[in-house]
Amino acid sequence: MPDLSQIEQQMADIISQLHEYNYQYYVLDAPTVPDSHYDRLMRELKDLEQQYPQLKQSDSPSQKVGGEALKSFSQVTHQIPMLSLDNVFDDKEWQGFISRIRDRLGVAGALAFCCEPKLDGLAVSLRYENGILVQAATRGDGAVGENITENVRTINSIPLRLRGDDIPAVFEVRGEVFMPKASFEALNEQAIKKGEKTFANPRNAAAGSLRQLDSKITAKRNLAFYAYGVGFVENGDDWLPASHYQRLMRLKELGLPVCPEIRAVDAAEDCVAFYQDILSRRDQLSYEIDGVVLKVDSIAQQQQLGFVARAPRWATAYKFPAQEELTRLTDVEFQV
Ligand code: NAD
Repeated sequence: MPDLSQIEQQMADIISQLHEYNYQYYVLDAPTVPDSHYDRLMRELKDLEQQYPQLKQSDSPSQKVGGEALKSFSQVTHQIPMLSLDNVFDDKEWQGFISRIRDRLGVAGALAFCCEPKLDGLAVSLRYENGILVQAATRGDGAVGENITENVRTINSIPLRLRGDDIPAVFEVRGEVFMPKASFEALNEQAIKKGEKTFANPRNAAAGSLRQLDSKITAKRNLAFYAYGVGFVENGDDWLPASHYQRLMRLKELGLPVCPEIRAVDAAEDCVAFYQDILSRRDQLSYEIDGVVLKVDSIAQQQQLGFVARAPRWATAYKFPAQEELTRLTDVEFQV
């Protein structure tokens, strides 16, 4: 018989560590441990919560998205929440994901997927009204984000006006702002020369650059953007295609940049080949990725599958094995 009070204490210790890491990562943009360490702790917590559901806390980090919006920015309430993604780390977990989807949909045959690189930047929501960019927000805690419109307006690849005439009066696009590897290296070199603090990785550099109170600083940071989804659309999103991949192609027609590596596949089995291919080319890509995102392609099936607390059921991140992560961190204890 396990000692429940001991397990409760173990869970409380993990939770307080995760709270601290979330604060460093999401609020300060300065992590002190590699993502693989964070992911292991989170997995440990989720396993304990599954084994001992009576000990699960309602404010557990396993149920929450991101971090809180900084008070220095005005706040934006998302009309449709910005969620996170669940993760799989190996083939066994991927097979588990697929069989859960098959069970829920009652589909035994082929399942079409949209396969995308998992860009290592930060999620933003762009709001276009009558085709004009009027607001940009960070994900924040998923419900409330930071208003970063002025900073986003400095990113060259984000159109201030969409192409085309039949765009709904309100149209929200979701995607990732990231810092290309070359810009990240140059930024850190410059910081070293000036004796300033360097960023731990391109994700934190992108987040730190976007969450500046002075947009002139953001303008100098050479950030980029790829769209990967749609948020709120006035009068519903029926004017968009019924396939996620085709929707991304429509976003491209509207003038929004979409990652050139994305692929539509007819069968779930092909997702693994995509994962292997992108993993083998990871170092040649001009931007940092930490896995791939595999999404059920049919919007009708996505709607049927729905969401859990912090993530959609119709998508998962298939994360790459941990690399020589964050070797720049001073805390060598955590180097892998
Ligand atoms: P996540 O990064 O695992 O996945 C969700 C995010 O993926 C989305 O919000 C979006 O920004 C991004 N994304 C990239 N490409 C995408 C695509 N093609 N389609 C859809 N989304 C895409 O989740 P998260 O909640 O942002 O962060 C959790 C992860 O962050 C952890 O698993 C851990 O690796 C890391 N983390 C690390 C620390 C640390 O201290 N090192 C602390 C907190 C979080």
